[in-house]
Amino acid sequence: MKVVLASGNKNKLREIGEIWGDSVEIISQASLGIEDGPEENGEDFRDNALIKARFVKERTDLPVIADDSGLVIDALGGEPGVHSARFLGEDTPYDVKMKEIISRMSGKTGVYRSARFVCSAVCIMDDGTVLERTGTINGCIGYGMAGSNGFGYDPLFFIDPFDAARAFEISGMARDEAERLALRLGEENLVTGAVRADLKEYVSTAQLPPDVKDAVSHRGRAFRSLLRDILAAGVRGS
Ligand code: IMP
Repeated sequence: MKVVLASGNKNKLREIGEIWGDSVEIISQASLGIEDGPEENGEDFRDNALIKARFVKERTDLPVIADDSGLVIDALGGEPGVHSARFLGEDTPYDVKMKEIISRMSGKTGVYRSARFVCSAVCIMDDGTVLERTGTINGCIGYGMAGSNGFGYDPLFFIDPFDAARAFEISGMARDEAERLALRLGEENLVTGAVRADLKEYVSTAQLPPDVKDAVSHRGRAFRSLLRDILAAGVRGS
């Protein structure tokens, strides 16, 4: 089974490959000589994922997968949302983007700092059927940044210590150990000021190793569900 990933992003190819394991072979659009991509001008994540997938599907007979994702912050009316990569300009360092978000969130505490990462994942099968799944991970915007794993807004996005412990546990750690580790990471954040008492012991997704983040992440959830749908529909890749 073979599908084409509509993206020029090598990290995405690796990440989805890790989430899916060996059941389906994922090849890049570049390996088919498709170097460019469409303008991502959709209104939501699903629109953009479909725009990317359709662009490549018009150039190959193989099934095509694509995703679109971003950070949705309730207090900012859903921004940066579909503009996550372009927020303050595509080439602006994430440090600058995150500091700007922290300043726009001033005065907001507790639940008013709620946010989520959302991922819309789609597959256009070889007969044109569209399969689609959305994954979400809920959390809060920190008062500062923590952790050095992941990418993008990960250092600013904090999840409940309970969810962090669950992620460690799913990844193979014993429950007691997972709870202790999550609590320790959360306590460090209180000391550095990345979180305050209203987000006590929250852990950033940049503090989780990649496989642990995938266990509970928006992308992990969307692509694990999509894989089940693809296998159920039966991919006839060459
Ligand atoms: P795209 O899905 O490749 O269009 O990327 C969307 C943008 O959303 C990324 O460039 C990041 O800014 C942000 N984003 C999406 N998922 C994550 C994540 O897991 N961690 C941090 N930032 C993310």
